[in-house]
Amino acid sequence: MKRCYYECLEVQKGAGGDVLKTAYRKLAMRFHPDKNPGDHTAEVKFKEISEAYDVLKDDQKRAAYDRLGHAAFEGGMGAAAGARGGNPFGDFAGGFGDVFEDFFGQMMGGHGKRQNRGQDLRYNLDISLEESFSGRAAEIRVPAQVACEACSGSGAEAGHSPETCPTCAGHGKVRAIQGFFTIERSCASCRGSGKIIRHPCKACRGAGLTQKERTLNVDVPPGVEEGTRIRLSGEGAAGVNGGPSGDLYIFLSVAEHPIFQRDGHDLHCRAPVSFVTASLGGSIEVPTLDGGRAKVAIPDGTQPGRQFRLKGKGMPVLRSAQRGDLYVELAVETPVKLTKRQKELLREFDAESQAGTHPEAEGFLARLKEFWSGGDGA
Ligand SMILES: [Zn+2]
Ligand SMILES: [Zn+2]
Repeated sequence: MKRCYYECLEVQKGAGGDVLKTAYRKLAMRFHPDKNPGDHTAEVKFKEISEAYDVLKDDQKRAAYDRLGHAAFEGGMGAAAGARGGNPFGDFAGGFGDVFEDFFGQMMGGHGKRQNRGQDLRYNLDISLEESFSGRAAEIRVPAQVACEACSGSGAEAGHSPETCPTCAGHGKVRAIQGFFTIERSCASCRGSGKIIRHPCKACRGAGLTQKERTLNVDVPPGVEEGTRIRLSGEGAAGVNGGPSGDLYIFLSVAEHPIFQRDGHDLHCRAPVSFVTASLGGSIEVPTLDGGRAKVAIPDGTQPGRQFRLKGKGMPVLRSAQRGDLYVELAVETPVKLTKRQKELLREFDAESQAGTHPEAEGFLARLKEFWSGGDGA
């Protein structure tokens, strides 16, 4: 004789949905087969409460049960089956799967997915300043775990398919009560995969994944800097147990340039000129990063360290049509290895120097005199 469903769940006949659920969870955890291995009585009890809950949680089934008792679900002849015949409520006699769906499904929420997500990968890509300037289509090869071709990622040999793990009913996790706490742990029978593979694929030994090198095309946009990261969504390691793939991050490293130094969007370069050019003025040619050249007019009497700004000749601004500037810093070089004649000419030049030829030196000298005389007076 079957026990009354309300008795099975230890609730009153008029118990509401929440009371039913709480009662069911408490009992289901106590009598769960995982917690009572080999205990037949617990197994029977577990089926009993599962069946009771399956009926009572459903308003329609519960109404039928309240009216007709167990007869409502017996064979095809029950009154509730009506004219359609058969059991309108499906077979729940061995329904562990359904029970788990209902009970673990909501408790586990969505966080199971996250745990199965593949790892993010990092790839270091070295580029030149020119490539950072003009952008670059790079082809990179990354080691990756991809779905095994032989078994399409199932891990099972051709003609077989993975079976749902009976221990965890395919959830990959089991729950256990420790004191007041419910501990969720990975199912030991299937190592968290929810599946048991009895005939493993030979190519991947049942893993469903194989190591392979993949070639990816990366579009490095103009204007990237040292440390810029490019994210390739979903190109990271493959997920576990059907989880989503991780992302691939490309970390860019821009090499030093022999001529140009970068400062944000601007470029700097040093242009040494002779003291003659600096004195008399002239025009010099400076390189630009696009491989071209630009003219810089040097006025006469230009001092060392003076900067000339070439507007728009700097780096491109990432994802914009703007460009930084190029700063050319003038370095005036003192000549060395002079010939006798050159020395003579310079001495002649010096003899002709007068007040105002070297204003900075003259000013400095005047300040020195004042400083030293002040020191004497003290
Ligand atoms: Zn399992
Ligand atoms: Zn395989």
